[in-house]
Amino acid sequence: MKIMILGPMNSGKGTYASRMSKALKIPHISTGQIFRDNIAAKTDLGKEVEKFLVSGALVPDDLVMQVVKERISKDDCKNGFIFDGFPRNLEQAMWFDQIDGFDAVVYLDVPREIVIERASNRRTCKDCGEIYNVVTCKPKKEGICDKCGGELIQRSDETEEGIKKRLDDYERLTKPLVDYYREQGVLKNIEFKNHNAPPEENTRIILEALGVKQ
Ligand code: AMP
Repeated sequence: MKIMILGPMNSGKGTYASRMSKALKIPHISTGQIFRDNIAAKTDLGKEVEKFLVSGALVPDDLVMQVVKERISKDDCKNGFIFDGFPRNLEQAMWFDQIDGFDAVVYLDVPREIVIERASNRRTCKDCGEIYNVVTCKPKKEGICDKCGGELIQRSDETEEGIKKRLDDYERLTKPLVDYYREQGVLKNIEFKNHNAPPEENTRIILEALGVKQ
């Protein structure tokens, strides 16, 4: 199954996508994480994209397309994938429809206030990218990743200014994708009753909407 998870920053895209990935046995692909890994490894791509990530701006489409094309050509994508953070605008969506396409687009319809509140509680593992929330999804040991033992940090694009910029970009550039995929008939609109429910519970709601037997 080829899936995209769509929603504003801090709507839980990464959290649910990583759990869906385990349940469906298909890779979770976060373009943001690919960029962060490249920055950490100081690759040419990392050097090119660093300034965009630091300021919270979008990476130019040609670089995003290059990364996506290369990633989906890998063996682990042959049964599908879950994209998180891609596409970010209509140009990327239309390009992707030309080379591939999604069977389902999971839209997390989370209100702006909740997204802003969560931003300050979010922590990301410096080493593996696993996401935690210091209120709703705490690590077993404060400041330490359960998965790999890495240090948990607050990302530099999650400062107040960075958050506002990314939310405005989302409303202007990414939200139009909701109508785009609704018209294609692949949109699954998800409105959680409890946004702070344990991630496993909300993941079950998403899998049910996708018609996955659990
Ligand atoms: P994310 O982890 O999805 O919040 O992405 C972090 C950052 O990576 C974004 O703020 C952008 O700078 C960049 N990025 C990730 N995915 C894309 C994309 N599809 N198009 C443009 N920029 C992206």
